Amino acid sequence: MAEPFFQVKGLESGYGEIRVLWGVDIEVNRGEIVCLIGSNGAGKTTLLRTLSGLVKPTAGSVRMEGEALAGLECKDILSAGVAHVPEGRRLFRTMSVRDNLLMGAYLRRRDKSVDEDLERVMTMFPRLAERANQDAATLSGGEQQMCAIGRSIMSRPKLLMIDELSLGLAPRAVELLGESLVEINKAGVSILLVEQDVMTALDLAHRGYVLDRGRIVMAAPSEELREAPAVREAYIGAS
Ligand code: ATP
Repeated sequence: MAEPFFQVKGLESGYGEIRVLWGVDIEVNRGEIVCLIGSNGAGKTTLLRTLSGLVKPTAGSVRMEGEALAGLECKDILSAGVAHVPEGRRLFRTMSVRDNLLMGAYLRRRDKSVDEDLERVMTMFPRLAERANQDAATLSGGEQQMCAIGRSIMSRPKLLMIDELSLGLAPRAVELLGESLVEINKAGVSILLVEQDVMTALDLAHRGYVLDRGRIVMAAPSEELREAPAVREAYIGAS
């Protein structure tokens, strides 16, 4: 069988002496939205940080289209096509919305294609177009998330990883962001979504993984996870 588009095998990582991830296996197929759910401290953020090169793995492999990515520098992983929207969005607060978006293209040659992509992001998020010259700090939470996602798109990723899409946002903002993610996905970008709001995650994703204390304990299509008693009890608050 052909190798999956994005494949993580036996990944281990942590911080110094503290091991957080224990032999994590996940796959994302081309065109999929995959979510990763799990309680606080399960290691979801650490997994995304390891996949984007911010934390170095101590064992395991990460491959995208057959290319080995584990242990590479962040910029090389980004160049290979893996973009990371970090928890808390990490915008450059005193820079304009436009300049924040352009930062996403910093590894690309500044040519016409960058301006075209900027146009495309502004069309996808009209709120950002209206606020292009404002400092990012003046944006609402939902708009900041749009800006962070837009910035990632500017690197032309093949895989977009998003840490906590909905954290601290109003339901309407989450709905709009979800629609944008579906649009981005339909345009050919695979998505790995970490999300503490399990229903939001399962509504958006085709498949999901449950991470518990650094180990994958369940993997299934979203509709199966939504009905799984263990998921309902632990994460949805219903039995
Ligand atoms: P949350 O939703 O609360 O962010 P999470 O599933 O994303 O949870 P992580 O943030 O990856 O979990 O944290 C996993 C474990 O790693 C926790 O026990 C946490 O205390 C620990 N940890 C996270 N960051 C560091 C760090 N910089 N140094 C040491 N330990 C850390």
